[in-house]
Order: sequence, then C-alpha cells, then structure tokens
Amino acid sequence: MTVETGHTSERGARDGGGGKHRVVIVGSGFGALFATRALSHANVQVTMVAATPHHLFQPLLYQVATGILSQGEIAPATREILARQRNADVLLGEVFDVDLNARRLAARAPGTGELFHVEYDSLIVATGATQSYFGNDAFAQFAPGLKSIDDALELRGRIFGAFELAELEPDPEVQRSRLTFVVVGAGATGVEMAGQIAELAHRALVGEYRRIDTREARIILLDAAPMVLPTFGDPLSAKAAERLRRLGVEVRLGAMVVGLDAGGIEIKTEDGGRERIDALTKIWAAGVAASPLGRLLAERAGAEVDRAGRVKVNPDCSLPGHPNVFVVGDLMALNLPGVAQVAIQSGRHAARQIMLRLDGEPAGERFHYHDKGSMATVSRFDAVASIGRLRLSGFTAWLLWLVVHLMYLVGFKNRVTTVLHWAVSFVGRGRAERAVTAQQVFARTVMEKSAAQELIEPESRAGVE
Ligand SMILES: Cc1cc2nc3c(=O)[nH]c(=O)nc-3n(C[C@H](O)[C@H](O)[C@H](O)COP(=O)(O)OP(=O)(O)OC[C@H]3O[C@@H](n4cnc5c(N)ncnc54)[C@H](O)[C@@H]3O)c2cc1C
Repeated sequence: MTVETGHTSERGARDGGGGKHRVVIVGSGFGALFATRALSHANVQVTMVAATPHHLFQPLLYQVATGILSQGEIAPATREILARQRNADVLLGEVFDVDLNARRLAARAPGTGELFHVEYDSLIVATGATQSYFGNDAFAQFAPGLKSIDDALELRGRIFGAFELAELEPDPEVQRSRLTFVVVGAGATGVEMAGQIAELAHRALVGEYRRIDTREARIILLDAAPMVLPTFGDPLSAKAAERLRRLGVEVRLGAMVVGLDAGGIEIKTEDGGRERIDALTKIWAAGVAASPLGRLLAERAGAEVDRAGRVKVNPDCSLPGHPNVFVVGDLMALNLPGVAQVAIQSGRHAARQIMLRLDGEPAGERFHYHDKGSMATVSRFDAVASIGRLRLSGFTAWLLWLVVHLMYLVGFKNRVTTVLHWAVSFVGRGRAERAVTAQQVFARTVMEKSAAQELIEPESRAGVE
C-alpha cells in the first residue's frame, strides 16, 4: 500500500512525501501542535504521529474531573484543528522505536496494535510527561493521577460516586471515610482539585442528598513540602493556603505519603509520627516522569536523561549528535519548568530551526524561553498570578486566568461552550457535566484487562533496528 503521507505500513512501499522535506512530529500536545502550525507556510510535508486523536488542554483537566467542562471542550480532534493546513497530516499511533540512522520511526495503532513505519528528514519529539509515583506504582490503582482524559473521567466517577456511596452507608464511620477526599501534591493541580472538590461539597451539591450533608465532607490537601504552590513563592503561596482553609480544605504540609490502599492513606508527619487517614477517594497530583520515549531516544543517540527521564538536549533543543532531531516541551531537559509556554515556544523554535536550515541559513540558534508568568485558581472568582514582578490574587487574578485560558483553548465553538459552562458553575452553582459510565469509573481496570487480552501481537512489538 503506497500512501501520500510519507509513511509505510508493514506491507507498504516507502513514499517520499511528494519529494518535499518530511518533518515528522511525535505528539499532539502543546509542543507538537505549535510546531506543526509554525510550519504551515513552509515547503515541507508535516506528519504528526500521536497516541491520542485529540489535542489536550491539560490545565483544565481538573474542571472535567469535577463536572464543570466536558472532555470535548478541552480536547478537540487534532485532525479537525489541522484540516485547513494542507501540508499537515495526522496519524494515530504510539511511537515505540526510532532508528536514527535510517531516519525511521516505528509506531502501532492503539487497540489493534497495527504496526506502521514513518520516515523523516527532520524529527520533532514532543511526547510530554506522565505521572510519577516515585517508585510506588502500586499506588496508581488507589490514587489516580490527572494527566489524560481517561484520568479526568475516572476521577469524575470516583468523586461523584463517593457522595453516592456515602448516601447509601448507614455506618457513620464508614460514611465519614466515603466523604473524605485526599489530594496528594500541593502544586497548581492539587490546589485546583482540592478547591473544586470543596466547592462541590460546600456549594454545588448542597441540598441534593437526603441522608448526608455534603458540607461535612473532609477535603485534605497533603504535601511533603512546607508550602502550597512553592513555585509562586510568598506572599502568593501563603494567600492560597489561607483561602483554601477558608473554603474548608485541611492543608497538611510536611506530610509524606508512606502507604496507600483502597481504604485510606498513611502519612509520615513532620515530627516523624505516622497517621492513617481513612478515605475512599485519593487523588495523586505529585510527581512527574518524562514519557518513556525520551529514555529510548537518549539511548539510541548516546545522550543523557535527567532524574525525571527528560532528554538532555543541546541549547537549540536538538538531540546531541543529531541536528535534524529535536526534543521539545516536557520531554526536554533544559532547566526550564514543565509548563505549556515552554512547550509552545520550544515547539515553534524547533520548527524555525528546520526552516532556517532548509533556506540555507545558519541554524542551531539557542532557545530562549520568554516567561509569561504563572497562574492557579483556588476557587471560583479566586486565583493567584505571578507575572514578572507583578503578584496578583483574588478576583483580578481570576479574571486574568479566565482570559488567558480562553485565549489558549483551541477552537471558537469550544470557547463559546466553555464560557457557558463557566457561567453555569461559577455564577450559578450547577455542574453541567456529571455523567459517568461504569467503564469510566473503572477505567484503569478496564484498560488493564484489555492489555491482558493481548490485543497487541507480540511480534508487532519488535523494534526497527
Ligand atoms: C493537570 C495538569 C495541569 C496543568 N496546568 C498547567 C497550567 O495551569 N499552566 C501551564 O503552563 N502548564 C500546565 N500544565 C503543564 C502543561 O500542560 C505541560 O507542560 C504541556 O502540556 C507540555 O506539552 P508537551 O507538548 O510537551 O506534552 P503534552 O501536552 O503532554 O503532549 C504529549 C503528547 O504526546 C503524545 N504521546 C505520548 N507518548 C507518545 C508516543 N509514544 N507516541 C506518540 N504520541 C505520544 C500524547 O498523546 C500527547 O498528545 C499542566 C499539566 C497537567 C497534567
């Protein structure tokens, strides 16, 4: 089978991408999408290969998990976003090997495991990061993280489901554990999750249940560090902690998780003591590990990775020894934070280096990150923002947060429906997106089961080298 995109199936013959320079971009997150768009007027053929068919706006995942937004609003189809970019093509596939000498990737279609290869002249890898449980991977089944749509929908099911199970429970002690929510990690995601669960319990769900008072729910935000939102520094960190407490969130700092099971969590406190908290719902918003493709790529190139598995790249974001291969966003180690702007700007930078080289201009420019600031919401009408020397909190910061997030959401119709959903939840007190299916609640178990059914043929796992 010959195809026009420059990729080959297992049976297919190689196609040259119409004689144009072939840029292959792995991923469909911020880094990949902005790199692809930056190449829209270049005389190249761009092929994006991503494990998910959507472009996910991760900063609003917590709103999907707490019933404010639908998954479609934050995850439009990449194919639809790029429909008008005639030089771009999108392939759904998980890249599992890279042959740097033959300039060829091996990928398989999710679910069926169908194998295909994609050849490139230039490569940009932007496969981001996953959750890290700091070596305690068994925690994952009891405390899902928040990295994907699957995670958000599973958490939505667990959070709303906990209130339902509490309503059914006659034993007050068990009922209390069902109404206890523990969020591990007091960075932006943890703060936003804890704040929204508190709003659910104290505002959105009040009056809906007959046997429980949702306002009695315990929401605990834990972190081993001594402050919430440490990257924001004081006074914003202290303000955020104070506001969370006012919302009814117990903020427990200097608390390290040492055990986790279906019924609760065990922590080591600052004084060295141990404490068990019985809680049905645990959410992991703590560690980050680079996507496994980073380590593989580094191995192939003889490059190094940092402790989180990020690839140590050259100052121009290229892979050492391979000036035509770039690693951008959360996957690259360049002493920069794992935030959307780093991914966007490094994706554009890599695209520019490719265009410069094609124009015969000197490439290899050093990547300079322009820090546009950071923001986190605490609850409705309340956020903190740090922009240059400016420190904002409260309503003004929240308004700024709202505008910036709307600007970066992709698609006009998504913006319109998002604003409507925000009005429902923030001006009113409803949650428009509470539907959950059994598959979503048990997402982790379902996916493990399908993997165990060995849908993917063992031969198709073979590498390309
Ligand atoms: C819950 C949450 C909240 C956040 N909030 C903020 C915030 O408020 N502000 C901010 O600036 N940043 C925030 N971030 C961080 C920000 O989202 C990331 O820095 C950014 O998404 C990184 O972009 P990326 O392109 O490097 O990777 P990602 O956006 O993670 O994209 C990775 C892509 O690679 C694909 N992929 C992975 N492995 C493979 C493979 N083997 N083959 C093919 N495709 C693959 C994935 O499907 C995905 O499309 C948040 C992150 C999370 C998880």
